[in-house]
Amino acid sequence: MASNRVKYMSKPYVFIARKIDKNGLEDLYRHCRVKMHNKTMPPARSVLLKEASRADALMTVLTEKIDRELLAVGKNLKIVANYAVGFDNIDLAAAQRADVYATNTPGDLAGAVAEHAMAMILALSKRLLEGDRFMRAGKYKAWDPILLLGNDVRGKTLGIIGTGRIGSALVKIARAGFGMNILYHDVVKNPQIEKQYNAKRATLKVLLNQSDAVSVHVPLLPSTRHLLGAAEFRQMKPSAVLVNTSRGPVIHEAALVVALKKKAFAGAGLDVFEHEPKMAAGLKGLENVALTPHIASATYEARREMAEIAVANILDVLIRGKAPRNELKP
Ligand code: NAD
Repeated sequence: MASNRVKYMSKPYVFIARKIDKNGLEDLYRHCRVKMHNKTMPPARSVLLKEASRADALMTVLTEKIDRELLAVGKNLKIVANYAVGFDNIDLAAAQRADVYATNTPGDLAGAVAEHAMAMILALSKRLLEGDRFMRAGKYKAWDPILLLGNDVRGKTLGIIGTGRIGSALVKIARAGFGMNILYHDVVKNPQIEKQYNAKRATLKVLLNQSDAVSVHVPLLPSTRHLLGAAEFRQMKPSAVLVNTSRGPVIHEAALVVALKKKAFAGAGLDVFEHEPKMAAGLKGLENVALTPHIASATYEARREMAEIAVANILDVLIRGKAPRNELKP
């Protein structure tokens, strides 16, 4: 009994900072002592700091600021495994200085986000949500040939800003599934999508000018903050739709509301917001928007994969004694 206890106590301690689906966490529970903050809201900062002070690893979501203060109290902390692809909540330089690994969860879940972006493009083009609200309001009295006219997506041009994992997955869906022509804007050339899907690289201006749908898939960086604002919205086609499933601050949200009110373009689909969980004033009153609460990767399949990737990274460091497979560097 005593030796079991010694064995148990010697297992590394991992704090999971949010209630997450346990699918995919099996190996973590097998090898570590695990405590989950079993709530749908983030832990208080004081709770996070207390857990950081005794944990060997933290599994965090985007609401947890991993900064100098937290890293300084984490005397045993060896890894912060973000349960997300994005990692703008982590000060990577501070983590490196503190000798703490930081990781994210890239993988097939890119497909889940790309599907969400495509769903938004379709919903906006086909005015699905407006139709839904129309029905619920009991306004459907007789078939009307000019009611809620939208746009086909077949054969139209899709402009993708950022063709990494998610952007490239969307290229495939849009090209193979809907025969869309693809323009892309990225700081690096993507020969694979050019060859396989005939995607054409373009400046941001040309992409905005020529696209019927624009979908944003860049990470949040100083260079991408407010990448799209009033000037860019003016360059879009009046019939175009804009979708953002990347990070809220990539779009100037207040300017977006003004542009949509002026009908500078046809509609916007947002899964992410500049000051999450808040929305810019005036946004929710607009008809031509589709809004979702940062759920683009919220599928059972993607969540399991995210858990498995985060666990693999933690076990790489705590059990296998090596660098984590998805190490992030400043
Ligand atoms: P990725 O790193 O594979 O791809 C990002 C692409 O953006 C790269 O090709 C990069 O070269 C390009 N890029 C960087 N800076 C640029 C700039 N200034 N101009 C043009 N292109 C630029 O990332 P990913 O896995 O495709 O994910 C993209 C982002 O999506 C993540 O950083 C994350 O913030 C967000 N995301 C959101 C959800 C969600 O639930 N809504 C889920 C996963 C990821």
